Amino acid sequence: MGSSPRIVTFHYTLRDPSGRVLDTSAGAEPITYLEGGGQIIEGLDEQLRDAAAGVKRAVTVLAAKAYGEFDPGQVQRVKRGLLPVGDELKVGDQFQTGPDRQAPIVTVVSIDGDEVTLDANHPLAGVDLTFDVEIVSARTATAEELRHGHAHGPDGACQN
Ligand code: ZN
Repeated sequence: MGSSPRIVTFHYTLRDPSGRVLDTSAGAEPITYLEGGGQIIEGLDEQLRDAAAGVKRAVTVLAAKAYGEFDPGQVQRVKRGLLPVGDELKVGDQFQTGPDRQAPIVTVVSIDGDEVTLDANHPLAGVDLTFDVEIVSARTATAEELRHGHAHGPDGACQN
């Protein structure tokens, strides 16, 4: 730390250790975040602190600083009848455990008669991630942005 937090805008392509593309901002809007604001994963934020506009860099973030290590305690067996799903349930299905967008997503690991095994780990838990990053812009955050904990638009307007 030391210097003032910045507002950083970047494009990225995210790959798993096998090189498979998991996500990319290519062809879409770049991501904008406040350093230390928790809007991107911690390990990526930390490794971009010295990256100026125009920098292209491959950043590897170990699972512990990305979506966490895999937790066997997050795997549970439940009765099928308790699940908010229809008859079509199959291995690999994912659904949210509650009505709001922040509710954890669970994945169906196996189905054994009336018993369904669900994994509530993040789908990327235990996975080391590599981001190919291109910094579009970086500037010092304003006092208002620091108070709000997020980036404001080009005109300084709060969009939240
Ligand atoms: Zn704001």
